Amino acid sequence: MNIPFIDLNAQQERIRPQVERAITKVLDHGAYIMGPEVFELEQELSDYCGVKHTLSCSSGTDALVLALLALEVSKSDAIFVPTFTFAATAEAAVFGGGTPVFVDVDPGTFNICGKSLIDAIQLAKCRGLTPRVVVAVDLFGQPADYDLIEQICLDHNLILISDAAQSFGGKWKNRNVGSIGHIACTSFFPAKPLGCYGDGGAVFTNDDRLIEILRSLRVHGQGTDKYQNIRIGMTGRLDTIQAAVLLEKLKIFDAELDARQKIAERYTAGLREYVETPFVMDCAYSAWAQYTILLENRDKLSAILKEAGIPTMIYYPQIIREQKPYAEYPFVKTPVANMLSAKVLSLPMHPYLAHDTQNYIIDNIVNAMKEDKRCA
Ligand SMILES: *Cc1c(COP(=O)(O)O)cnc(C)c1O
Repeated sequence: MNIPFIDLNAQQERIRPQVERAITKVLDHGAYIMGPEVFELEQELSDYCGVKHTLSCSSGTDALVLALLALEVSKSDAIFVPTFTFAATAEAAVFGGGTPVFVDVDPGTFNICGKSLIDAIQLAKCRGLTPRVVVAVDLFGQPADYDLIEQICLDHNLILISDAAQSFGGKWKNRNVGSIGHIACTSFFPAKPLGCYGDGGAVFTNDDRLIEILRSLRVHGQGTDKYQNIRIGMTGRLDTIQAAVLLEKLKIFDAELDARQKIAERYTAGLREYVETPFVMDCAYSAWAQYTILLENRDKLSAILKEAGIPTMIYYPQIIREQKPYAEYPFVKTPVANMLSAKVLSLPMHPYLAHDTQNYIIDNIVNAMKEDKRCA
């Protein structure tokens, strides 16, 4: 057995002729940069998320950087980020011009913890920083507790950016994640729930003023004339070919989310007696970018599974605030993030995981855990 952790080939097989036609169309018209597919995609994504504006861009990281540049944050501004996330969240806070302040996460959802956020706001003030932005990450596909985070943002006059890189397609109480926060950001990296065939990302907002600034920032800070620059910007565009690929993938996306949900349910039903399975809040619909279990003896189980041809991944083995480039930035105590980084193990997860393959994975985990109990 050689089981892929994420099977992008199965998806490609399903839509290969449509994708080839879409790419050929771009080759025919030749508008590789900002071609018609880019604008078509932006409109479709706005409709999909129920948000006024979508700015497609070069990656999920650049989406976050563009958002922070548009907000004109400065080094004296505290940008609150969870410390249990992919590095890009914290990296963007620095590139965007702010100072990241690291916050602990909730042991159930793995997302930013409200109580820890309030501690971090106090800490930032003590350090002479102005509390300015919260970047809430929807880790592994599950939206953060936005009722709580929005209330804290309101109470402390903070701007909310949602990092929906892993949760695109997810929902918080029927609000699509792209419509949450002052600005929402996502990634179209191939392995994300909605991935293209290269790098890509998007910024979403209902703010008419911000979208104008974002459009300018995406192309070197241009003004109304191409060679008139009114601010410092970047090369932040999404390629037309990637937009064409995404338009085809968007057509099957809801069916894929459905499949992910069913696969997650099957994992939970099969594994919950043996390992700690993911907790999803009642009002959250997860995009299931990852299916992540918690257990003490992670390395032993992953070695046993590897023997059986089952790949696993550790997202994330080291929390961001403990990594060298981030050592200088403020943080509150992060016992939950530290515990998670020692216990998480992600299993193969994608919409095309066949039942018999999934049963094989579940059986191997169950047997290993039973064996483990006997030895203990
Ligand atoms: C993947 C990811 C990003 C960055 O997206 P890229 O497109 O790879 O730049 C940002 N935040 C989180 C939480 C991610 O998982």
